[in-house]
Amino acid sequence: MAIIGNDISQAKKLLLEGELVAIPTETVYGLAANALNPEAVTKIFVAKERPSFDPLIVHVASIDQAQEFVTALPDKAIQLAQHFWPGPLTLVLPKQSVIPDIVTSGLTTVGIRCPDHDLTRQLLNELPFPLAAPSANPFGYVSPTTAEHVNNQLGHQIKYILDGGPCRIGLESTIVGFENDKAIIYRRGGISEEEISNIIGEVNHQLTSSNPVAPGQLDSHYAPRKRFFLGNIDELKKDHAGKKIGILRFKDGSSSLEEHLLVLSKYGDLEEAARNLFAALRQFDQMDIEVILAEPAPESGIGKAINDRLKRAATK
Ligand code: AMP
Ligand code: MG
Repeated sequence: MAIIGNDISQAKKLLLEGELVAIPTETVYGLAANALNPEAVTKIFVAKERPSFDPLIVHVASIDQAQEFVTALPDKAIQLAQHFWPGPLTLVLPKQSVIPDIVTSGLTTVGIRCPDHDLTRQLLNELPFPLAAPSANPFGYVSPTTAEHVNNQLGHQIKYILDGGPCRIGLESTIVGFENDKAIIYRRGGISEEEISNIIGEVNHQLTSSNPVAPGQLDSHYAPRKRFFLGNIDELKKDHAGKKIGILRFKDGSSSLEEHLLVLSKYGDLEEAARNLFAALRQFDQMDIEVILAEPAPESGIGKAINDRLKRAATK
């Protein structure tokens, strides 16, 4: 198992040696390595059993640092970075050659963001390189939102987990790219589409693809191990009569006497629901149940990102 602590100098030492360290961010925990060192980055793919076609996000301390790693920064990207960084927004931009191909899966673009977590920002400020970091979970599984989540699954693969407490947002970053000056959302996440269009006007999306630019677009991703069904809970209960069921409700309803019930937010607060979602999916995997039945969140704000994850968690 890994050592869990909040010693930045220990994290720094390991990263300088080309080792992996799990880091806290406001979205989910990341599995980090020196983004400029292909050997260190390879360890991320091995530990996660991540396919090499799935590019990593490069984490930087500031907009100034981001500029060292991209060849162009469109006006809309600058506006978004100025407004939302540090924060849960990844910008996909043409990369400088100093970013190794393994980081971007051979793409000519790099996903880059400045995370909003004090410990990790301090670490980034002290390091002489940016950090490549995908979510710190085995490929395809639910992302970790606590240091314990990371330790449970990847503890044997890493020496140190920098513990920054439970993640404040709890969903991955929103990913935005640019084509001919048009902004395109590749993955919904911690910043809503409404917030983005308030800053730069119209945005398009490209959220699913069988040959994805962004593997967050894969139809099945972010999935628990138990079979998972999304819809109207009363209907789903009929379909699954006789089975041992777990129920995931968005808010507290009349049926709080249900067994194996998890509620994302007692009073239906979308931010709270987002924060609790991945921990709930992990809890179901520990319960003595056969299937998970879940209801969608309201389709507004970050509710759209919650529903995106629920759809991708659903059994096909
Ligand atoms: P994770 O942090 O595990 O959510 O993984 C990072 C995700 O960022 C990838 O799965 C992609 O969806 C996305 N990503 C990273 N770099 C790029 C890029 N250059 N173009 C498109 N998407 C990217
Ligand atoms: Mg991931």
